[in-house]
Amino acid sequence: STGLMQGKRGLIMGLANDKSIAWGIAQAVAEQGAELAFSYQGEQLKKRVEPLAASLGTPKLYECDVASDDSIDALFGALRAEWGQLDFLVHAIGFADKNELRGRYVDTSRAGFGLAMDISVYSFTAVCQRAAAMMAPGGSLLTLTYYGAEKVMPHYNVMGVAKAALEASVKYLAEDLGKDGIRVNAISAGPIKTLAASGIGDFRYIMKWNELNSPLRRNVTQEEVGKAALYLLSDLGSGTTGENLHVDAGYHAVGMKAIEAPDI
Ligand code: NAD
Repeated sequence: STGLMQGKRGLIMGLANDKSIAWGIAQAVAEQGAELAFSYQGEQLKKRVEPLAASLGTPKLYECDVASDDSIDALFGALRAEWGQLDFLVHAIGFADKNELRGRYVDTSRAGFGLAMDISVYSFTAVCQRAAAMMAPGGSLLTLTYYGAEKVMPHYNVMGVAKAALEASVKYLAEDLGKDGIRVNAISAGPIKTLAASGIGDFRYIMKWNELNSPLRRNVTQEEVGKAALYLLSDLGSGTTGENLHVDAGYHAVGMKAIEAPDI
């Protein structure tokens, strides 16, 4: 085949089920010939993730809890033994205590703040350290973020602050690793119904709002995030680093929409 990802090996972190953004990305790059490994959090996700990985012809599956450096080291040690070199990595991981994702941001606890920052921000830096050490020039690292980093969104709270830090870290990582020809980018996805999203208060309302107010007047799909990821992870994106690519039906571009009813 002549796929865009032919001959490239990548690790996809954050696959929970077939609704995961990680799954949309995995399918898009596998279709273009990528060889994949997956990491998942905790043994109870294994039975969900195993058949998905197998459907892409990928037996490489690793357990990894990004809260632990030992767990991350074990993952990359295993991957290094298996492949030696890595061409790309997708970090589709975020977490905050559900209690922080309702009510007011001002009530955020120190523990809740620390947890969200550790899992949703530092973990990307931690995996970039290990992944970059296995990459040749042309390597590509990708994380997922949300518009709640840039503007206040209902109930996003501490995750908004964490995503802002994640987006800043993408720029610092891009500068550090750019010297080695390695690119680091983020996709800012519009709201998509996933396991993680179900933890956010009034998520249905957020989806409806985006559907009604985005330029394309609809929400985006995992497949569309997958196509954008294909650009950033393949040679198509060779000139792009430190970028935050919005895949949100254009919602981020709108300040206020005109009234569409003809008689007002
Ligand atoms: P998801 O629930 O399918 O994926 C989240 C993943 O994070 C899960 O696989 C979970 O196991 C993993 N995870 C959480 N804590 C972990 C830990 N300690 N160690 C290892 N893995 C851990 O939901 P998703 O929406 O596909 O989320 C993927 C990414 O996309 C997240 O960063 C999320 O913030 C981001 N995002 C989601 C949306 C949306 O609307 N769904 C929008 C923009 C950005």
